[in-house]
Amino acid sequence: MKHIIIGNGPAGIVAAETIRKRSPHDQILIIGAEPEPPYSRMAIPYLLIGNIQESGTYLRKDPEHFKKLQIELLQGRVISVHPDLKKIKVDINQKQEELAYDKLLIATGSTPIRPPIEGMDLPGVYSCWTLQDARHIHEKTTKGTRVLQMGAGFIGCIILEALASKDIELTVVEMENRMVPRMMTQTGGQMIKKWVESKGVRVFTQTKVEKITQDGKALKVSLSNGKSLEVDTIISATGIKANIDFLKGSGIHCEKGIFVDEYMKTSIPDIYAAGDVTESIDFSTGHRMINAIQPNAADQATIAAVNMSGGVANTTGSFQVNVLDTLGLISSSFGLWAGIEGGEHAELVDEVNYKYLHLEFSDDMLVGATSLGMTDHIGAMRGLIQTKVKLGHWKDKLLTDPTMIMQAYLEKGQEQASWKS
Ligand SMILES: Cc1cc2nc3c(=O)[nH]c(=O)nc-3n(C[C@H](O)[C@H](O)[C@H](O)COP(=O)(O)OP(=O)(O)OC[C@H]3O[C@@H](n4cnc5c(N)ncnc54)[C@H](O)[C@@H]3O)c2cc1C
Repeated sequence: MKHIIIGNGPAGIVAAETIRKRSPHDQILIIGAEPEPPYSRMAIPYLLIGNIQESGTYLRKDPEHFKKLQIELLQGRVISVHPDLKKIKVDINQKQEELAYDKLLIATGSTPIRPPIEGMDLPGVYSCWTLQDARHIHEKTTKGTRVLQMGAGFIGCIILEALASKDIELTVVEMENRMVPRMMTQTGGQMIKKWVESKGVRVFTQTKVEKITQDGKALKVSLSNGKSLEVDTIISATGIKANIDFLKGSGIHCEKGIFVDEYMKTSIPDIYAAGDVTESIDFSTGHRMINAIQPNAADQATIAAVNMSGGVANTTGSFQVNVLDTLGLISSSFGLWAGIEGGEHAELVDEVNYKYLHLEFSDDMLVGATSLGMTDHIGAMRGLIQTKVKLGHWKDKLLTDPTMIMQAYLEKGQEQASWKS
């Protein structure tokens, strides 16, 4: 049996190792387009801060790791997939080669969106996605540099954390009305903004970058709020798109990402997908979404690998888990944190002490939660949402005092455990 895995990020590597564990004699080939050994994008902020060297971002530290497991690594870019022939076409050093597979996993991840703004292609404008980007940013953010970061989403805030550790002048521009708008309520996002500002970072929300022009050595940035800034470097973190362009004409069903079922199968037999590249079913809504976080990539990869190697594994859906450390302020949100139509919610807001808790209910079930500056409740919030426990009388108690969530979890969790046993 020959398994080909396209993509050597966390999803590709976890899948290869899982297949090897289950099928000691199968052939496994991983193809990755970037020149470095398999690495974790998640570690890039630590590299920028200076906590680790490049080798610290490598997913497996032993240089002989893959050889020992008889997993072959190939540097090349897959340019097409031909399910009728069970072959893929790869560009290796500008030479095209066809390779045959029995089972194929697509784990090509995602890439940053470049917003259609005049001047985005000027030198000095970077994404923060690859090790190559990290090298550029490291070089261009020396002491006193004026840096503008576009986007304050989840990844944007992680990059912000790394940039703020440097002795630079940092401005963040976010077009939505708050920071991390896809993981935080209005109140939570505003509190993060205030916190970040108190740490010396300038933040403009509800503001767009409209134009970038070269002005001598500097970049002149025109903002939709009428302001114009002069900076040295721009980092763009304005969202991602799945790497699916090479699948055109393959017949694999894609919209924003690759459609997968609960077994991580695509619409074509013997072809699976995992990680940022997939558009999979969300646990809470039942709708498809791209859930571009590393734990999701690893979970999906494990499921795909089990099924590719003759076993059966499936998922109950990808679960929205967001946990973020923004300059020391921990925020988190889970499930349907923005609530549902006709649902009820409970909220505790302590702006002075940066503490916030927001719970969303559907009937007597907790379906979503958001917290800021309160880490004790994180496990309880996630547990109650994921187990879909009926809260009974606890719902009214939580509506009055959401901080009782831990007690609710302990009591309802115990009830459920004794009912099951
Ligand atoms: C700065 C930063 C910080 C992050 N921090 C966090 C965090 O704190 N927590 C978290 O959960 N997530 C974080 N993420 C997101 C996380 O890194 C991704 O969710 C994760 O990398 C997804 O893994 P993947 O294997 O699906 O894709 P990737 O890691 O993107 O790997 C895909 C690989 O496929 C290769 N590839 C693409 N197309 C082809 C092709 N045609 N042929 C061959 N190879 C190809 C790519 O070069 C890449 O190496 C962060 C991301 C960034 C950029």
